Amino acid sequence: KVLVTSRSFGKTSPKPFAVLEGAGIEYTLMGGDFDEEKFKEVISQYDGLIIGAHPFYPEDMARCKHLKIIAKHGAGLDNIYLEDAKKLGIRVTNVPAMNANAVADLAFAHILNISRGISITNERVHRGAWETFIGKDVFEKTLGLIGFGAIAKNVARRARGFSMKVLVYDPFVTEIPEEFQDFVTLTDLNTVTENSDIISIHVPLTDSTKHLFDKERIMKMKKEAYLINTGRGGIIQEQDLYECMKNGHLCGCAVDVMEHEPMEKDSPLLELENFVVTAHIGMYSIEAISAVSVVCAENVAKVLNG
Ligand code: NAD
Repeated sequence: KVLVTSRSFGKTSPKPFAVLEGAGIEYTLMGGDFDEEKFKEVISQYDGLIIGAHPFYPEDMARCKHLKIIAKHGAGLDNIYLEDAKKLGIRVTNVPAMNANAVADLAFAHILNISRGISITNERVHRGAWETFIGKDVFEKTLGLIGFGAIAKNVARRARGFSMKVLVYDPFVTEIPEEFQDFVTLTDLNTVTENSDIISIHVPLTDSTKHLFDKERIMKMKKEAYLINTGRGGIIQEQDLYECMKNGHLCGCAVDVMEHEPMEKDSPLLELENFVVTAHIGMYSIEAISAVSVVCAENVAKVLNG
């Protein structure tokens, strides 16, 4: 018996349900009206969990005597306490890389949008103000990538089409693959920070990336630069970002992820016209959801059927 708390599992194709049914697995969908209290109450009855972004705390895990698998419907594992799961003998799976095109598209959409003020002018026009907005070309600019995994590589592939020069900071990468060597340079964090016209964040949230973009680092960025985060909330220190932007540092910032989601309705960042936010939609393309759901269902079937 598997509980599905991910809202988007199987939303775009019936195939993942066929995978579960084919493996003799009964499933309960809780995603649509997910309620944390209800989840805590019922999870101990299940053998498997297909989880989205909500946290699954160690104390709740410890009560789950039958639970054999926590299958993340997506890539990031920061909402799952891996050490605790390991101690309890619960397998944890994720689906890396399959959403890399969807997230890279969104990151690039944010880059183009913030550079040309698309959503800013759209809102102005909706309010009745048909006004000019002078933005900036993306063509031939320097793009800084924080992290050079699956998503960042796909962003670099898109950047090539805009003749961009790409600077990368990723301490776990020792060599840039040949396909990128003519336009991507691996360097240190300060060089990326100080020399990029646009910085796009593609790292997981870890102790070393938490608040990596605090006031000190944001102030090292070019005053006219843009900051994009489709990685994880918490990598940018949001109060610091607000203070820097309020004082005119950065031309704009666009994010898909916030430290607290849903983000606070009274966040001061929402006062800033050049702060653009999407509601953690990075992996939500039909293609990505379908592919990730199938692999996630296969992971569950493999573990539960030994
Ligand atoms: P990936 O594992 O392929 O790449 C992550 C890269 O970050 C790796 O190359 C790693 O070496 C690097 N890295 C780790 N710690 C670092 C550090 N301290 N400094 C610099 N680089 C560091 O992952 P991916 O598929 O490219 O995804 C990247 C991140 O995007 C995920 O961790 C996840 O948090 C986020 N994500 C967001 C969405 C969304 O909906 N917005 C969807 C999927 C993934």
